[in-house]
Amino acid sequence: MTAWQSTGGRTSGTPHWSDTRRFDLVARIASGIARLRWRGLPPLGSLDALTDGIFVMRARDGRVVYANRTARELVLMASAHRSINRVDQMPFELTTPEGVVVPLPRTPALRAARGETVIDEICVLTDQEHGQPERWMAITAVPITSPLTRQVSSVVCRMRDCTAERESVEHQLELGRRRHELVVETMALTDPLTQLGNRAQVTRWAHEIGAQPRTGVTALLLLDLDAFKTFNDSLGHGAGDALLLEVADRLRALRRPGLRVARLGGDEFVVLAEDLSDQQAAEQLAAELVRDLSITHHSASGMQVLTTVSAGIALAGPDQPVVADELLRTADLALYAAKKGGRRRWVVGDAVLVEEVQARLVTEQAVRRAVESGALVLYLQPIVDLTTSGTVGYEALVRLLTTSGELLSPEHFLGIASETGLITDIDRWMIHEAARIVARHPELVASGRKICVNVSSRTFASPDYPSVVREALSRNGIDGSSLVLEITEHSLLHDEPQIHEAITAVNEAGLEIAVDDFGTGYSALAYLRLFAVHRLKLDISFVAALADADGVAASTVRAIISVAHAHGLVVTAEGVEHRWQAELLRAMGCDHAQGYWFGHPVPA
Ligand code: C2E
Ligand code: MG
Ligand code: MG
Repeated sequence: MTAWQSTGGRTSGTPHWSDTRRFDLVARIASGIARLRWRGLPPLGSLDALTDGIFVMRARDGRVVYANRTARELVLMASAHRSINRVDQMPFELTTPEGVVVPLPRTPALRAARGETVIDEICVLTDQEHGQPERWMAITAVPITSPLTRQVSSVVCRMRDCTAERESVEHQLELGRRRHELVVETMALTDPLTQLGNRAQVTRWAHEIGAQPRTGVTALLLLDLDAFKTFNDSLGHGAGDALLLEVADRLRALRRPGLRVARLGGDEFVVLAEDLSDQQAAEQLAAELVRDLSITHHSASGMQVLTTVSAGIALAGPDQPVVADELLRTADLALYAAKKGGRRRWVVGDAVLVEEVQARLVTEQAVRRAVESGALVLYLQPIVDLTTSGTVGYEALVRLLTTSGELLSPEHFLGIASETGLITDIDRWMIHEAARIVARHPELVASGRKICVNVSSRTFASPDYPSVVREALSRNGIDGSSLVLEITEHSLLHDEPQIHEAITAVNEAGLEIAVDDFGTGYSALAYLRLFAVHRLKLDISFVAALADADGVAASTVRAIISVAHAHGLVVTAEGVEHRWQAELLRAMGCDHAQGYWFGHPVPA
């Protein structure tokens, strides 16, 4: 068995050819002959005369397309009788003298196929049976880029027998040091689970790419498995590791020049692609990855689980710096957008997206901080009886105080609060605060006025919400008769036992339920009968449309009011801004109204 031993790569932008002119010649010849097959090619006389071994490998498939006489003698002959003509088919194992197996892609020629110029020393431990001694080769592998495709088309390798030099004591010492360095370096740059590169390796690759003159686009694709946590938690860490290894194998199998793969940790992988023609090529690669990394996992219990990936892409043009941290940050924000957009997709991170996502993250941070530090403020807006013009209650509306002293209204933060789940903390704070206000104002209870508190569908559907309400009441020593919960039609659409239980539980605690923004959902009045609700809040859009000349809104409102009354519901019109609206609504039989005409929301 023949083994190659590597002392570890030395990489540099400038090959140390003793004779640069000769190198130029070889490079030119190489680019010309790279398309030809090795067999059948007449030996190029000038190169055959060299004492150095020269061989040319086609980057696309690792096929050796030319070898001069010395190269054939030095290495390739050793395996020629096995009719092997591809670098990765050579029957030797690459190991360091310490026994560390060097992955095949680290052979000098294959590394060069990815665009690196490699200067290395390898040991050819030839077959003892054939009585050949151990020989050391100084190898230089140089990628040749095709001016047409701008891809590495071939690799020229030059080998020089340096066995004699290596026998000196100094050289032995240097060698030992380099072997040690390689082991440490390999470990420091390798992900222990998948044996792919790690984050440090990505940084190093980016640095290498950035240091070279470039003509194409560099793309960093950050891939993240969708719902990996759930997968891990439900199927166990063994299955989780197996899935990560499967993903790693599929990524490794991509084997294209200029493509490098790493795992950052957890379920995050990086594909770094250099010299792409344009953004479209990067997106095409992302599309392929998103498609090919949909994996059906068969669990031990026979269950089938489909896992998918999402990708964020960061690009660097030929004139832009290639800095791993920056690319990773952009790709991370793009990945965030891809996940938000519904997963199993990719998003390209450009300046606009980065700004957008960052603004979102800032708001998210502000909401989180406000919720944690109690920087929420409760505003009250009066609700008026349209017949008596007396105030019958108030709606509690949340505001958020930023660190710069700005007061944000819900439209600026409720979306983010809903997505992040922070809405539940807001809703809990509001019911506690409303209960505190009722306790501090006994005259409210005495006059029969109520405070209406908004509850998101997410909060209302959470099983512990009724106990949150009961706690708010008991902590403030009040019953629920002065509080109304405003839930949306959307909450009722999930006609699940849980919603009925929640409604029953809060009713038992003495609270009434109002259906908010009625008319924006399915507006199914008959449907409301299924639930123990008491009030209906007519959405602002109906009130605004009362002015429409066609009179459609007016007749719809009239119909809603009469059907609601038939169901025993009290109707409140929202967004009343003008006296004529109030008068018209009163004439239509609407019970209550709320809006700027009666009063703006003010701090409680
Ligand atoms: P909503 O429950 O329908 O509340 C009425 C909204 O209409 C309030 O907006 C109020 O300020 C506004 N409004 C009142 N009168 C008028 C008027 O005459 N004209 C116009 N154009 N608008 C008027 P706000 O305070 O910005 O709240 C917006 C929405 O945010 C609320 O709509 C409610 O769905 C939600 N929200 C507010 N506070 C909370 C909360 O504590 N929890 C939850 N889950 N949602 C809340
Ligand atoms: Mg409301
Ligand atoms: Mg409303």
